Amino acid sequence: MFSLAVFILGSLWGSFCNVCIYRLPEDKGVITGRSHCLNCKSKISWYDNIPFISFLILRGQCRNCKIKIDYQYFLVESIAALSFLAIFKIYGLSTTTLLFFILSISFIIIFFIDLKHLIIPNEITYSMMIIGFIKSFDPYLNQSLFPNYFHSLVGGVLGYLIIWSIYYFYKKFKNKEGMGLGDAKLLSAIGFWFGWISIPFILIFSSVLAILISIPSLINKSKTMTTQIPYGPYLISGCLLYIILLEQIQKFL
Ligand SMILES: [Zn+2]
Repeated sequence: MFSLAVFILGSLWGSFCNVCIYRLPEDKGVITGRSHCLNCKSKISWYDNIPFISFLILRGQCRNCKIKIDYQYFLVESIAALSFLAIFKIYGLSTTTLLFFILSISFIIIFFIDLKHLIIPNEITYSMMIIGFIKSFDPYLNQSLFPNYFHSLVGGVLGYLIIWSIYYFYKKFKNKEGMGLGDAKLLSAIGFWFGWISIPFILIFSSVLAILISIPSLINKSKTMTTQIPYGPYLISGCLLYIILLEQIQKFL
């Protein structure tokens, strides 16, 4: 019963993520009335706006003009609902669960915005930094997962400086932009959450993933080595790997 409630909660936050993914890059307010069809501008009534169910009933089409609704809506809602459920199954009713709910919402929004627009909104990274730092004062959290305020602060500074220096040298010596400062703010936010110890692992994981995924398109010559890629999704995947592999990593340390 609890699980079903968490799943529904996740899908509702998933539709909030969809609103942010569409509106944050265009600097429109997130809370500006009811959503409407992007094609025919007709308002979408509440019964056509229920996560999953409406998408399935309408078969992915607008009720009014029948244009196909972006699959991203369905995808984002599913990811949010499933991650909420997984987090709840692992951490139960706890502060850790609440924190991971917040983190998954932030990650989903950044992942999709960066993928589409090559930007990472400050609204999300700054809030993540603040929450990540504040929560590090809670002594009852699992200290190996969420280290104390000292490790958190060092992590935040280190995360920013590492990507800032790559950005700086790239700009100075190659006159090109390899990475953006949005990536620096994202790694800083992750550092605030998981401490400086997480930074080297996340950098290694994310660059290996980025190389593996770029190889096919480099071979096809559809991209060159200098094409700017959205790096946020790789940092996020690297961070997820770090969380999943944390126990193994600690045996290794
Ligand atoms: Zn329409």
